[in-house]
Amino acid sequence: MLVEVPFGRISLVGLIIEVTTYSELKQSKLKAVLRVAPLIPLNDRLMELGYFASQYYIHGLGETLVSAIPKWWRTSSNWSKPLQQLIAKEKATAQSNSKKKIAQNQLNEEQTHAIQILSNHQAGTFNTYLLNGVTGSGKTAVYLTFIESLLKLDRGAQALIMLPEINLTPQLQRRIQEHFPEENLAILHSGLTEKQRGIAWHQAMTGAARIVLGTRLSIMTPLPKLVAIIVDEENDSSFKQQEGLGYSARDLAIWRAKNERLPIILVSATPSSQTWHAVKEGRYQEIQLSNRVGGFQFPNVELVAPHKSSRSIIMSPMMIRALEVNYREGRQSLVLINRRGMAPVISCSSCDWLSECDHCSSYMVMHRQLGHFKTPMLCCHHCGLVKPIPQACPWCSDVDLQPLGRGTQKVEDQLQTLFPQATVLRVDADTARTSKKTEALFQEIHDGAAQIIVGTQMLAKGHDYKNIGLVCVLDADARLYSNDYMAPEHLFAQLVQVAGRAGRFSGAPTKILIETRYPDDPVYQYIKTFDLAGFMEHLMSTRQEAGLPPFSYQALVHAEARQKKEVLTWLNHAKLFLQKTAYLQTGITVFDPVPKSIARLGGWERSQLLIESRHRAPLQALLNELEHYFRQQSLGRISKVGKVRWSIERDPLFI
Ligand SMILES: [Zn+2]
Ligand SMILES: [Zn+2]
Repeated sequence: MLVEVPFGRISLVGLIIEVTTYSELKQSKLKAVLRVAPLIPLNDRLMELGYFASQYYIHGLGETLVSAIPKWWRTSSNWSKPLQQLIAKEKATAQSNSKKKIAQNQLNEEQTHAIQILSNHQAGTFNTYLLNGVTGSGKTAVYLTFIESLLKLDRGAQALIMLPEINLTPQLQRRIQEHFPEENLAILHSGLTEKQRGIAWHQAMTGAARIVLGTRLSIMTPLPKLVAIIVDEENDSSFKQQEGLGYSARDLAIWRAKNERLPIILVSATPSSQTWHAVKEGRYQEIQLSNRVGGFQFPNVELVAPHKSSRSIIMSPMMIRALEVNYREGRQSLVLINRRGMAPVISCSSCDWLSECDHCSSYMVMHRQLGHFKTPMLCCHHCGLVKPIPQACPWCSDVDLQPLGRGTQKVEDQLQTLFPQATVLRVDADTARTSKKTEALFQEIHDGAAQIIVGTQMLAKGHDYKNIGLVCVLDADARLYSNDYMAPEHLFAQLVQVAGRAGRFSGAPTKILIETRYPDDPVYQYIKTFDLAGFMEHLMSTRQEAGLPPFSYQALVHAEARQKKEVLTWLNHAKLFLQKTAYLQTGITVFDPVPKSIARLGGWERSQLLIESRHRAPLQALLNELEHYFRQQSLGRISKVGKVRWSIERDPLFI
């Protein structure tokens, strides 16, 4: 139960997790609870999930459970507000959106078969399904129909649908709302106001909402009569929280389904390697949809060599020609580049000076304009530092400073110059700063107001475009040749996603041009034929050879301090401690501490230590010991000596 208690001179909101009749303290030392929140207690199943997450992700129980409760409820002054009135008001605005039942498309044979398999699921048992199908194969219709049947069976039943990023997928949200016009949907994501989130959470907890649609944070929602969980785009990395409790909502969802004995459906066009492996081992049941509904065609993929480095030309002449042809044919083009701003760095023409950030080991990006600054500025995308561009080189005073490379703004500028008649639209984190602005940008694309759209990966999430004739992917290699072993898997998924968004429902097939220096790389070879199985098998064999996940389990120890020496000393001590334990005999490898790919961030020196294990259980035991060892020498998660901030992360997605 959520309560307010006296704490020193102030009062705090906390969670009562147990009641005891005995205390070692004198009665006079005990204090009474000031107030109890007007909420029903969290149910046992949710508490079990909290205990598990806290133990598995090596995070305090309080931090885990309390942070899962919306802030609105953690503010005790809200407890006396007229809740029913607030709910009614919230509903009134939500309902003005839509209430009409949309005629559902007829399901094809394959979809009907998929639903049949799911309908055979025995209530009260756990099973993980992988619903795997290319874009346009009707996966959403399958899981929505399945949920509909479960909700019909039991008037109190609830379902949880998790999506990677709701802000970018309003179409899917609308579709789900239209499928269940009679149902009260609770929507949970970080773009809502605290009050909206608080109300939605309350609706879920009381059973008033039968469908909860949420991002990763919705996994800890109390749902008294949960009957099924859906994880859409299960391979998306945003299901993994990077800061604090570094949990994977996808993994917790599977644990929750198992603990509550429910069916869980993982949905993807490009399943994660982890899921693929589990299917091959027979732990998950795969349901495949291979046909496309609604006249969907896969695009034709061509690999294009990048234009030789030149300051004036931003892409290969072949791409520019293709853009021209497509423009003349009256179809829209997407140009994707995962780098915002004008130029990733500026340099001095006479010496080696580059626009490095004062606080990070990375370069400051040149922006043509940034927020309220109307003149070109330098901005660090890691720590947020903003500076004017120097008049002259700080090292040699030469005034000839040149931008190097290209970002979304530069591509936008040059294309506008090349195609003066066309409307060029830019979609990136700078132009789409609020969900309202994002909606407006996407609306312009759907209305056909823009003919050439330049943007980051944001463009490839969620929206289906009807009139795209050409997609140009710039700088694809940038992701591939990082030291991250997951990079090929992420790139392949991204390219399939791009293809899926653009290939839909258009007349002539869309063309995708991918700029690469390494056309022989397996990622590009398999993407040419959209051969998911071929790519995954290749990926699995390389991972198995190298002993990487899913054939092993990993954990990272993160450490940062003001001085590099302190960080390395701390991590070397950790390594020594780990080597002294007996676990190294059980197939655990401890690597040397190494600086992170961005070794200095906002003035903090950062390094990490990788631990790899062939089995899950000994790794868990080892990490518990390690945490205990760290805690003895720390105040919270900051070491007493050297002030090193540390954390332990399970199953890291980026190394
Ligand atoms: Zn210089
Ligand atoms: Zn910085």
